[in-house]
Amino acid sequence: MAPVTNGEASKPRKRIAVMTSGGDAPGMNGAVRAVVRMTLQENCEAYAVMEGYQGLVEGGDWIKQMEWADVRGWLSEGGTLIGTARCQDFRERPGRLRAAKNMIEKGINGLVICGGDGSLTGADTFRKEWPSLLSQLASSKEITAAEQEEYKFLNIVGLVGSIDNDFADTDATIGCYSSLGRICEAVDYIDATAFSHQRAFVIEVMGRHCGWLALMAGVSTGADYVFIPENPPPEDWEAHMCDIIKNHRALGKRKTIVIVAEGAHDRDLNKISPTKVKDLLSGPLKLDTRITTLGHVQRGGQACAYDRQMSTLQGVEAVRAVLDAKPGDASHFISVVENKIVRKPLLEAVATTQAVAEAIENKDFDKAVSLRGDEFKEYYDAYMTTTATEDAGQLLPESKRMNIGIIHVGAPAGGMNSATRSAVAYCLSRGHKPWAIHNGFPGLVRHHKDEPIGSVRLVDWLEVEGWISKGGSEIGTNRDLPSKVGLAETAACFKEWKIDGLFIIGGFEAYSALSEMRKGQAEHPPFRIPMVLLPATISNNVPGTEYSVGSDTCLNALVGYCDAIKQSASASRRRIFVVETQGGRSGYIATMAGLAIGALAVYTPEEGIDLAMLGRDIEHLRESFATDKGQTRGGKLILNSEHASATYTTQVIADMIKEESHGRFESRFAIPGHVQQGGTPSPMDRVRAVRLAVKCIQKLEGYADSDKTPEVQMKDEDTMSVIGITGASVVFNSMKRLEAEETDWKDRRPLNESWLAYKKIVDTLSGRPKPMDCC
Ligand code: ATP
Repeated sequence: MAPVTNGEASKPRKRIAVMTSGGDAPGMNGAVRAVVRMTLQENCEAYAVMEGYQGLVEGGDWIKQMEWADVRGWLSEGGTLIGTARCQDFRERPGRLRAAKNMIEKGINGLVICGGDGSLTGADTFRKEWPSLLSQLASSKEITAAEQEEYKFLNIVGLVGSIDNDFADTDATIGCYSSLGRICEAVDYIDATAFSHQRAFVIEVMGRHCGWLALMAGVSTGADYVFIPENPPPEDWEAHMCDIIKNHRALGKRKTIVIVAEGAHDRDLNKISPTKVKDLLSGPLKLDTRITTLGHVQRGGQACAYDRQMSTLQGVEAVRAVLDAKPGDASHFISVVENKIVRKPLLEAVATTQAVAEAIENKDFDKAVSLRGDEFKEYYDAYMTTTATEDAGQLLPESKRMNIGIIHVGAPAGGMNSATRSAVAYCLSRGHKPWAIHNGFPGLVRHHKDEPIGSVRLVDWLEVEGWISKGGSEIGTNRDLPSKVGLAETAACFKEWKIDGLFIIGGFEAYSALSEMRKGQAEHPPFRIPMVLLPATISNNVPGTEYSVGSDTCLNALVGYCDAIKQSASASRRRIFVVETQGGRSGYIATMAGLAIGALAVYTPEEGIDLAMLGRDIEHLRESFATDKGQTRGGKLILNSEHASATYTTQVIADMIKEESHGRFESRFAIPGHVQQGGTPSPMDRVRAVRLAVKCIQKLEGYADSDKTPEVQMKDEDTMSVIGITGASVVFNSMKRLEAEETDWKDRRPLNESWLAYKKIVDTLSGRPKPMDCC
């Protein structure tokens, strides 16, 4: 087929195809939308291969050219709209030969494949074989020598789309957090009935070779025991499990939840089935036990906010990777490490993924866990320390045990309780005393004898056990700073309660509180203790981290809200909603929600709003409605951060749009307000809260029984720090350095906000005109 050119006679325009393969995963549609639109924005042609590798093998109409409007509204659709299949033909060389011929026939020279480990293994095989496939096609005269030369390099890029999170070298696959969300939802429901009847439930979740879903379900629901293939339980697992469950019941727990991965086995690779577990629980432990197999519910339906953002960002990166690829370059896949999207070699990741399976087969379980990556190991360790609370082996010597104060400061955020629960459980497992400080700093200084339950008191495991899935703040939170309630009074309370380590959970107020106490150390000796802040705020505006606990819950609430109001316009299809988001003086929430819902425009405090911008956006809206042939499933959306402009308020913007539409479309404004705090914390906020909270207490206990006097400790800048995820790492940043170098105190946000680049992607994928386009 003759190459299409983009006007420059000698330069063929790239044709990039996207396909989804293997099991469907929530977020696949977001990836396809991003690949198609980014391809078109890069002045290339976009294609979709229908029904996975089957479409590639069949060719013809199974490979369809895609236009901008074809993917409208896809972000909020579950499954994959271009279809997927398990294709036997592609496993054999003749099938791959046909696929190669079909690609050349369509002139496709870049391929983005979104699928699981099998699909990407197939992609890797295809890439390796490509030169020999072309030679075979040329010698049988199915392609010309010129075509063989022109297509000699296959640019293939993988996107990992799978609910199992079973692919190596990436922390999360597209779809895994949506699936985890469904599991958590189900376990939360089961929890209520289990509690009522004092029952035990054995819940089987997907994961034949990978225990990520089971482990994370355990972490995020506070299950009593978890079985995963990578790290089977000890030889005497029956006794081990029964002891832990007996202990939890003896502590007063009324329910028991055991999570079993489909592929669970013992250390000799004998299957551990839900029935086997049930027999133990109902036999020796005499618990009324039921089995629930979650099955295909876990495939997830609509994607959660994280999967929509990730699939979009990764889809964009995949197109860039295809365009950047040089002849002879290895193929890449797009990975996420903590918060950073990176390209990684496909070949190595496929090999490592296969090595996990081999390690399990060879019963080398340490290797299997370590090949799954640091994050997996940390989650496993965090789970074990916070569930096996009676493991005396974990206790520290008396001299190293601390009085650890736990305080919530600022507005509530989803995951505050999850963090508190795991901090308490961790403290107890090590012999520290966890003191809950109720209602923030005002609660601390209020005299405890006047309080019916005491505003500072020890909490036990049973009390916090159910907090993992609770929204809000169980110990109460307050915005008032130590300076408001009195620095001297605050310090006196620390002394009275003999607090020798403080764990603060909260947002920018918590950050300010830590700063005040750090500055007050010279005058108030009780502040010369280690303190660590776990950022928890829906606004995600705390310096030193790119992620705050609660921000994901907020995004899910906001995305759900936007989906619902978009849907409400499905009858007229000619309505634009201007939705006001929270987030203080940070546009993070608006931008990330904009990525997740495909907003037409996002207004942020960082950028502000001006009349020319509104004019361009209204013009864009007119065009968008004019070219819409019914593809928009529901209305269109603009997101406006609450502090983007004092003049152009949400209502004013909506009114201006209405006025300027001249009756061609209508506009409405909507203010979700506190809905954005979310109810139940999202699984991501829960699991991250657990992991980060454990790290925080470990950081504090590093100062226990220190040879250093408080005065010397005070000079150690790291004694007061903020835990954060920055790029690909989890780090502790010294408060002193953050205050001086990274804080925009006036606007209450970090000086450099990592997500600002994502704003451009929202604009690019909505086709929003840039200022110069209109000049
Ligand atoms: P999931 O994680 O949801 O199971 P997956 O991509 O691992 O997704 P598979 O069924 O393993 O799902 O693979 C999907 C398709 O990829 C297969 O039907 C086959 O067409 C192709 N494929 C898988 N493994 C190979 C391989 N080794 N060689 C060639 N093609 C393969």
